[in-house]
Amino acid sequence: MPGFDDLHFDHWYLEDLPGDRDESNQRRQVTGAAWSLVAPTPTGGPRLAAHSHEMSQLLGFDADCVASNRFASVFSGNAVVDGMAPHAMNYGGHQFGNWAGQLGDGRAIALGEVDTSDGGHQVLQLKGAGPTPYSRSGDGRAVLRSSVREFLCSEAMHHLGVATTRALSLTLTGDDVMRDMLYDGHPELERGAVVCRVAPSFVRFGHFELPAARGESELLRALVEHTIRRHFPHLVRDLSSDATLDNDTIAAMFEEVAMSTADLMVDWMRVGFVHGVMNTDNLSILGLTIDYGPYGWLDDFDPGWTPNTTDASMRRYRYGNQPQIALWNLARLGGALHALTDDAEPLQATLDDYSRHFEAGWDRALAAKLGLCSADAVVTKQLTDEILEILPATETDMTIFFRQLGDLDLDALGVDAHSGDLVEHLAPAYYRPDEMTAELTDRTATWLRNYRDLSLTTGNSAAERTTAMHAVNPKYVLRNYLAQLAIDKADTGDFGMIDGLLDVLRRPYEEQPEHDTYATKRPDWARERVGCSQLSCSS
Ligand code: AMP
Ligand code: MG
Repeated sequence: MPGFDDLHFDHWYLEDLPGDRDESNQRRQVTGAAWSLVAPTPTGGPRLAAHSHEMSQLLGFDADCVASNRFASVFSGNAVVDGMAPHAMNYGGHQFGNWAGQLGDGRAIALGEVDTSDGGHQVLQLKGAGPTPYSRSGDGRAVLRSSVREFLCSEAMHHLGVATTRALSLTLTGDDVMRDMLYDGHPELERGAVVCRVAPSFVRFGHFELPAARGESELLRALVEHTIRRHFPHLVRDLSSDATLDNDTIAAMFEEVAMSTADLMVDWMRVGFVHGVMNTDNLSILGLTIDYGPYGWLDDFDPGWTPNTTDASMRRYRYGNQPQIALWNLARLGGALHALTDDAEPLQATLDDYSRHFEAGWDRALAAKLGLCSADAVVTKQLTDEILEILPATETDMTIFFRQLGDLDLDALGVDAHSGDLVEHLAPAYYRPDEMTAELTDRTATWLRNYRDLSLTTGNSAAERTTAMHAVNPKYVLRNYLAQLAIDKADTGDFGMIDGLLDVLRRPYEEQPEHDTYATKRPDWARERVGCSQLSCSS
């Protein structure tokens, strides 16, 4: 079959790291090993529901191959191609602030690692392909709704320019899975599905925490060595030497992880993404967005919002807390690395750098969102601080607000215009215009006047300003209710909306007038609907 024969496997993770000697697929504690060999469990009726053509191209699968039964069979875990080496990874993590011990790939099975035509190296991993030694009490399966969400969001994030794991395919297994969606005692059968995820590495912060917590220094050393040599090779002075693991190199890796994590937080905040479960087992060592579960997109700008019902009381993983949580997670990673270096000082310095790096990046991102990159930094900061207070004061759609601002004709904002008339320019972004107080209208109008004045100092033409702002303020994001509509259709066997959404989200910063319905405010029916505003970890 064209495609599969040409895959060039090279299993770095398995080669570099010790594996589990026990090959039985029994749930257990796995010590002294970074992986367990485990085959996907076959399913009743595999069928391809959607795929990403960019990813199939990158991996060398042509259209015939993608359309073949074999493709659906392999990427739902029903057939293993020669050269693949299916395995689950071992790692631990802090969940909701508490040490959870061993977690591991409880429902993910990596098929293997391939070299790609662009000179890259990618791991192919099935999510939902059956139990592994790390499944704890779970069944290793995933349901269609969560798989649609992971598939679409991975690709949407990539096209937004946000670092992320990718998705090659979404397949139905043909089997049903029992789930209690809201953990409220109402389990139901749902359709099972598998997403094939793709990333250069699925190593998480929790990979390092587990051997550190267990005192397995050899394994910890091997994991750090693997990560640096394979994924941060530029930090190694002499790749042929065994002596790569001096304290400086480990500290340099930590610094890079911290900076890429800070950059990721800036991007999440810029586009209004809320991950929902930022446990340390869900943070990538490469700074990728990983593990799409009960994530959500801000409709109205509310820093306190979390989509995750499991986190509803603490709201630890709310939108506005994400940068702080990333730092907390980095401190856990730094603690694990400290077990190897015995030199806390550079690790601590990196944690301090993180905050500076994030703040500077977020200031730049906000300035760019307002089209003020070349304006006076101090005045810009005053304006961004003020707008971050104004936005949550009334339900304001974040995506529409910034897009609308980019479209504003500043010359038309007359100096003497009445406050109400000025604020009218932002009307499409407001969910409850009737609730706007006179005070908030005045405050917003004052902001708009100051904004106009500062914008005019940049010397940009109206067209330049709009182009620059539209390049960082997406028009199309995977609104929670849109994903839910695609899921509702997929549940009836119609996958058209998944493809349709994927197509629109491929060009999120471009005007696509024919798809304007995908860029409107969340409809009222979606305000409290499960799947649109409330999600749980159940998937
Ligand atoms: P998450 O909150 O999705 O990052 O999952 C935390 C841990 O629970 C990971 O080790 C998962 O693999 C595991 N897990 C979650 N759901 C399941 C499931 N249905 N079957 C097996 N393991 C699961
Ligand atoms: Mg996870």
